[in-house]
Order: sequence, then structure tokens, then C-alpha cells
Amino acid sequence: MFGLALSASQGFSGPIYRVDQVPEHFHEHYILRGYRQPKSSISQCLLSLFDPTNETLNIWTHFLPTCYFMYVTWQLWGAVNFGGDSYSWALLCYLFVCCAFPLASAVAHLFNVMSDQARHICFFLDYSALSLFSFGVAIAYRAYSFPSSLLLSKNVILVWYCDNYVNIAAFNAVLSTLLTCHTRFLPPSPTHKAMRLGAFAIPYFYDNIPILYRILMPYIFSSYQGELNRESDDPSLPLGGHYLHARQFMFTGFAAFWYASHFPERLLPGMFDIVGHSHQLFHVCGILAVMDQLKAILLDFHHRKDFLEGLIPEHHMRLPQDYRHAADVLSFFWKDTGKPVCRVSDDEIALVGTWDTELWGNSVGLLAFVFWVNAVLTALFTIRLMYTGCKLKSC
Ligand SMILES: [Zn+2]
Repeated sequence: MFGLALSASQGFSGPIYRVDQVPEHFHEHYILRGYRQPKSSISQCLLSLFDPTNETLNIWTHFLPTCYFMYVTWQLWGAVNFGGDSYSWALLCYLFVCCAFPLASAVAHLFNVMSDQARHICFFLDYSALSLFSFGVAIAYRAYSFPSSLLLSKNVILVWYCDNYVNIAAFNAVLSTLLTCHTRFLPPSPTHKAMRLGAFAIPYFYDNIPILYRILMPYIFSSYQGELNRESDDPSLPLGGHYLHARQFMFTGFAAFWYASHFPERLLPGMFDIVGHSHQLFHVCGILAVMDQLKAILLDFHHRKDFLEGLIPEHHMRLPQDYRHAADVLSFFWKDTGKPVCRVSDDEIALVGTWDTELWGNSVGLLAFVFWVNAVLTALFTIRLMYTGCKLKSC
């Protein structure tokens, strides 16, 4: 099969092939050059980091952000009391998944040429890390970024939603792993591509419903709490967080576009084989989205903490009377019990929901559970792969 290797160019890792020199299931849409040896050794994979292949920048565009997210985690480790302050556990979960998902992706792109089966196993790992990331996002959003109007609502459905938002996100994450890994056993088709994109999109949209609500609510309900101005429509959340969350949507939209469209290589096949093809642009936009999300969550984390601890009481005074009571009670009870509560009348208070960061099982424990479920699913799909000897092309 590799008799044509003599005509291939040579890199640190060995020959670098054209598309017609590698098996069909290794082909990438509209990418004509830069293919690595399909049965590379570990050392060849590592050396390929420095070769001009069509995977090299796919690896670096996720490996360097992994280093960045690890650096941010290390910096925060000194500034936040992760061990003793239960309020910070959701942030710790989020930081973990921020480091894990680009690392898993970089590893998958690096080693996927070791064998036909390694290619599939690497991407099982990639997909399960992405689904775990979606779950980590849900934990952080629920802890720091939910609008107060949702948290303090007495509507039975909204109370249930706030209580079960994280549990449903866990279900979505597991479902996403199941569907995306299953697509690797399907023959290539637009349906299969749509199914995989949908399996990533469902957790993303679900996670972001409260954020969309938070950003759009003041515009949809323009008379919303008439005495409030734009700055203080939710005094427990920073306005800067709104903008960063909104920009995160923009970058995610770009990432989805590159992933689904295969632009620009679709227009000029062969021009973007090594630098500038859609998967690299997808990685870069995805990371820019996560960087904005991280900044937004950190802003929300600090601002809501200050608010709940009553450090910015002037914000309380700008609230309508009902909300002012609720905010005071919320603040008081947060410090005393860690439970979110809401004032029903002057004398009566009610527990709004049962989810709170006080319980280890709500954040770190549940993340560990989803992690292990994903690990078991990845192992089961690997066993299925061994039995079927799957060599189908996946995109
Ligand atoms: Zn990728």
C-alpha cells in the first residue's frame, strides 16, 4: 500500500503523504496533502508535532490552550480557597473541564494515526471530554451565572428547573457521549454529520438557556421592573459578564460554522492543507469562546460572592421592594446555611431550591460520576470496535 512512499515528502516523523497514498478512512474532506503514516509509532506521533502535516496545528491549537487553562488554574489556586470554601467548588469543576477537554482533543489529534482502531478510540476520548466539558459548564452556570429572577422565582416549574438543571445537564452529557461515539460506526452521510453536530449542540443550547434568558430578558421585557436601569437589572450579576457571555455565543457560532461548512478548503482544495483549514479555525474559535466564558464565569463568581456577602449593599437598595427583601434574605441565609431562600411575606421565608454548592455531591461528586460513566461508555465503544473491526470513514 505504501509503495508510493518514495514519492512522499520527508518529515521528522517519516514520510508525509498525499491523499491518494493513505487509506480512504483517513481522508479529510478537501485536504489533499500532509497525511502522516497511518500506522505511526508513539515516537513518530510525537515527532509529527514539528512536521508540516494537516494535523500539526490541530494539535497545537488545543495543546497551547491546555497550558493556558492550567496556568489560570494554578494562579487561582493561590487566590481562591478551593479546599475550605464550598462556594468555589463549582469553579474548580469548571477549571478541571477547561483543562481536560483541549488536552483530550490534542492527544486524540496527536495519536489517531497509530492504527485504524486507535483513530476511533482517540475520538471516543475527544467526544467524551467535550461532553464532560458541557457538564462542567452547567455546574458553573448554575452556581454563579443564573439570573436572580430565576433563582428567586416561586413558580413551581422554575423552582423544579433550578433544582434539576444540573441533573438534566448530566443526562445530556452522557447522551452526547453515546450519540457522538455511535456516529463513528455509521457510514459517512449528511445525516450522520448532523447527528454528531446535534449531539454536541443539545448540551450547549441546554446549558446556555439561563444565560440567553439573562442577556435577553431586559430587552424582551423592556418594562421589566420599571425602576431598574440597565446597569442594575440583576444586581447580583456583573454587566461585564453579560457582554462576555454574549461574545462567547458569537465565537461558538463561528466555530460551528467552520466545523459544519469545511470552508475555506472547500473553495480551494489543497490551499489550506497545512495552515488555515476549517478544523483549525474551529479549534481557535472554540477556544476563544471558552476564554470568554471563563472570564465571564470568574466575573460572575466574584461579583455574586460579594453580593451574597452583602459587600455591595448599595445594589440591594436599587432593587424593587420584593427583590430587596429577597436579596437580603438570600444574603443572610447564604452565610448561615448556604441555602437559597426567598421571602414569601415579611415573616415567612421559603426554601427556593435544594441545589446549592454547599453539598460536595452537587458539583465535584456529580462531575466525578459523569467522568466515570463517560469512561465506561468509552470502554464499551472500544470493545464494540474490537468486535466489529470498524474501518468506516468518519468526518
Ligand atoms: Zn479537533
